[in-house]
Amino acid sequence: MTKTILPNSTIGVFGSGQLGRMFAIEARKMGYRVHTFSPESDTPTGQVADIETVAAYGDLYEVRTFAQSVDVVTFEFENVPSECVQAAAEFVDVFPKGEILHTTQNRLREKTFLSTGGFPVTPFRHIKTLEDLKIGVAELVTPCVLKTAGFGYDGKGQSKIKTAEDIEAAFAALNGNDAVLEAFVDFEKEVSVVCARDQDGNFAHYGVIENEHANHILDVSFAPANVSESTHKHAIEITQSIAETLDYVGTLCVEFFLTRDGQLLVNELAPRPHNSGHLTFGPCVTSQFEQQLRAVCGLPLGSTEYYRPAAMANLLGDVWANGEPNWAAALTDTNVKLHLYGKMEPRKGRKMGHLTAVGETASEAAKIVRAARERLNPAA
Ligand code: AMP
Repeated sequence: MTKTILPNSTIGVFGSGQLGRMFAIEARKMGYRVHTFSPESDTPTGQVADIETVAAYGDLYEVRTFAQSVDVVTFEFENVPSECVQAAAEFVDVFPKGEILHTTQNRLREKTFLSTGGFPVTPFRHIKTLEDLKIGVAELVTPCVLKTAGFGYDGKGQSKIKTAEDIEAAFAALNGNDAVLEAFVDFEKEVSVVCARDQDGNFAHYGVIENEHANHILDVSFAPANVSESTHKHAIEITQSIAETLDYVGTLCVEFFLTRDGQLLVNELAPRPHNSGHLTFGPCVTSQFEQQLRAVCGLPLGSTEYYRPAAMANLLGDVWANGEPNWAAALTDTNVKLHLYGKMEPRKGRKMGHLTAVGETASEAAKIVRAARERLNPAA
């Protein structure tokens, strides 16, 4: 039975990055208190939360103390160890549930779940030994991509195998970790579907979002994606079916490759709000973060309607290469909104913030955010 967690209650959040920050902003807007738990202090989430616990995820005494002080737990970071989620779940509901986290935090478990469920995925092989890799490369044919099974995101822990000569170096780079070998997909584009599902099984989605990456990191997203009606319908059906199979509660993102012959392949699941869904924060009636809050609190999901087509451009630490960016210049276009995550150190490749904009069309919105980003730092 759905338990409603009312405003003024406290939501516990594992993780303390920008996803938790935007979640906390939405939660506080609706009168909830937020308690974040992570090993770092003065974090993007902690700056907005009511309480910031600084402890290792493996410190189960602290995890249990935290769980006893909150009314429900969710997370913004999926690489929280299973024992930590289990310890929290002794005292309080955790959404999405720990088994989902366990499945999605490891590429091999995730791909096995997807292929067993009949969902379309890139052909892959489980790699434990150099021999496995040699056989896998022969079967999947070069080029292919070798990815560590655990703790990989934004291209981290990945290497492309262009010819058989790359095999030994790619294997050595795994440092003994299990891996997944994937066929390289010569995709037409990358798209994602961000959705939310509540405790009664109600489902809401933000349509198909189109994503452009640079150096394996998301660069620009816009919605609605420029895809056919049948692709749109199919992407939503796959997403809903995945959410139902997992008995998912919260916000979920399914990332896809759209191949040149129109096939959708699931690349990855994110059991939380997703970077491509940042464009829902402002341009939509209900953001992906508010949906997560509503789902975990047992409130009805909100409308996912877009006021207008929308786009988002990430701001990586690179934007600071020539000093403080010119924020005023970016905001001269009154359609542009600035989000910064409160991170002090603008390292190269680090996600520091993003810009969103609306336009008459998604491609116009994308043009607006790109132009605004260029004005930040004309000399870079
Ligand atoms: P991932 O961490 O798996 O999401 O990979 C990051 C990005 O690398 C993806 O969004 C793609 O742009 C690229 N990529 C990953 N796997 C493949 C693949 N099998 N074929 C082609 N590109 C890939």
